[in-house]
Amino acid sequence: MTSVVERLRGDGLKFSVEFLPPRDAADELVLWKAIRELESFDPAFVSITYGAGGSRRDRTIRATGRVAQETTLLPVAHLTAVDHSVAELRNVIGWYAAVGVRNVLALRGDPPGDPMGEWVAHPEGLQYAEELVRLVRELGDFSVGVAAFPYGHPRSSDLDQDVEYLVRKLNAGADYAIAQLFHEPEPFLRMRDRVAAAGCPAVILPGMMPMTTVRSLNKIVELSGAPLPDDVRKRLEPYLDDPAGFRATGIDLATEMCARLLDEGVSTLHFYTMNRSKATKEVLGRLGLVPARA
Ligand SMILES: Cc1cc2nc3c(=O)[nH]c(=O)nc-3n(C[C@H](O)[C@H](O)[C@H](O)COP(=O)(O)OP(=O)(O)OC[C@H]3O[C@@H](n4cnc5c(N)ncnc54)[C@H](O)[C@@H]3O)c2cc1C
Repeated sequence: MTSVVERLRGDGLKFSVEFLPPRDAADELVLWKAIRELESFDPAFVSITYGAGGSRRDRTIRATGRVAQETTLLPVAHLTAVDHSVAELRNVIGWYAAVGVRNVLALRGDPPGDPMGEWVAHPEGLQYAEELVRLVRELGDFSVGVAAFPYGHPRSSDLDQDVEYLVRKLNAGADYAIAQLFHEPEPFLRMRDRVAAAGCPAVILPGMMPMTTVRSLNKIVELSGAPLPDDVRKRLEPYLDDPAGFRATGIDLATEMCARLLDEGVSTLHFYTMNRSKATKEVLGRLGLVPARA
């Protein structure tokens, strides 16, 4: 199977997409509709997040295996160190390998329930994503990615040190990083420059999620860890009670940010889809990366 690194190589603009594991049978249908709709546009890869607890994790593992076996897509399995011993992590990685999944996004994860609660490593587990990168690499021929935070990780008070840790986990054997959501290009571009200045050649993919509803706006603000800049807020404010106007402005904002990132040399855009394909297709269509009326 090809690796993410191979898919990211070469000229041409590309995109990748992230899905969430389904919660139930109805959710599974929604997920597979989005997967099939995006499959024909040949994304560089599709990644599936790793749930915080037992049954959700099994569904991640099943969905990732299904993508590997039943589609033409290249799946990336997210994996976190939360509540796992090293022996359990080895088992999950072994299972991925057995179903043909050779691409893993290695994450530490957050404490279940309260993401900002105290992080306590499993007594026989791992403390940082850097150690999971090493473990996955040790276990076979995997391509490994990691997370990056343009505004710094929410637990970090020092941006310089945060970039240092990012470079450490990339140097531990990761091939690329995917960035957390952000509101304007500059923090992402600064982070990319700092990683390059540290001598690290890894590609960093910007994370994108068009704001289509007030709810999605709140989610983006929460995940990014940074307040919305005034200029973005001013563009959206007139539409807080006008869902169609809000959605259209959200798509405009996402398209403008993607265009600026492409101008700055980004070649692959990563979309957090929330298991829906429409907004991603619209932005990609307006950028000319997929047919406009797809
Ligand atoms: C693209 C992306 C995908 C994600 N997917 C998932 C998912 O599928 N499931 C899920 O549960 N969560 C997911 N998350 C959330 C992620 O697990 C959390 O944000 C988590 O808090 C940080 O994970 P990490 O891998 O960056 O951890 P780490 O890189 O280990 O960093 C955690 C904290 O420790 C610090 N640190 C790192 N290394 C060191 C060191 N050597 N010494 C001291 N401090 C250090 C960092 O600065 C940071 O504050 C995702 C995040 C992103 C951006």
